[in-house]
Amino acid sequence: TTTTKVDLIGKHEVLPMYIPREKFSHKGHFGHALIIGGSYGKIGAVTLASRAVLSAGAGLISVFIPKCGYNVIQTSFPEAMVITDTDNENITKIAFDIEPTVIGFGVGIGTSPKTISAFEAFLKQNKAPLVIDADGINILAKKKTLLKLLPDQTILTPHPKELERLIGKWKDDFDKLKKVKSFSKKYKLIVVAKGANTITVLQDKLYVNTTGNPGLATAGSGDVLTGIITGLISQGYAPLTAAIFGVYLHGKSADIAIEDFGYQSLIASHVIDYLGEAYIDLF
Ligand code: AMP
Ligand code: MG
Repeated sequence: TTTTKVDLIGKHEVLPMYIPREKFSHKGHFGHALIIGGSYGKIGAVTLASRAVLSAGAGLISVFIPKCGYNVIQTSFPEAMVITDTDNENITKIAFDIEPTVIGFGVGIGTSPKTISAFEAFLKQNKAPLVIDADGINILAKKKTLLKLLPDQTILTPHPKELERLIGKWKDDFDKLKKVKSFSKKYKLIVVAKGANTITVLQDKLYVNTTGNPGLATAGSGDVLTGIITGLISQGYAPLTAAIFGVYLHGKSADIAIEDFGYQSLIASHVIDYLGEAYIDLF
């Protein structure tokens, strides 16, 4: 048997993690994050994730997307730099000449065979820390040999269905946590098991988040979380801290935003817009 360490994560726990911003800092101190994702009809996921990256505090943001998203991102999000695949609708070959501090992979990316091959080729030469979400996780679930190519402490952020594809069905909550822990151990990964009380898992350590509300049960809210965690790693937070703090901030932002929007009307963009309030609320 193993002992499991469980921490409840609230303001008191995340406050010591917070890295203050120095007066003489410049954008080079906060990293250059890259979001790789999108496919025809799902470019919005990349917009949400990359906006969240920058609002979380990254210095620079680039996105790697299929060609069809070029005008979308350049007009909707002027702060972002855009690199495109040779294909119009899907990602088919991942190539860029920047050196990203961290890469968020998978939002809106689809699971076409060409995208899966591109992901495999990319993983074989990638050195940057990774945050993998959405169809990025579905690709890993389809092709489990790719799991061995992930850098240690890669963060996966599955919602319950994605988690089930990854680790199989569980009998009850105890069984679920047991399976997540052994999966995390086997591949040396950080798993952010999303839900009403999101649980971040690294081997035998569990961190149970206390912020967030049912307003987050809405399109794109997971894409925003991916962006926040990616943005935190970009500016120097260690992966585990970025996962725990990111989940906290995402939930806190939603908790503040529902005071203005209510549970029904909250949309993922609001969670980005209120992220600053979540930071300010720390003090
Ligand atoms: P996704 O399904 O990928 O869009 O992710 C949904 C996000 O919203 C995750 O961060 C969940 O933890 C969060 N979320 C969904 N439903 C709830 C809920 N009822 N209470 C709190 N957070 C939620
Ligand atoms: Mg999602």
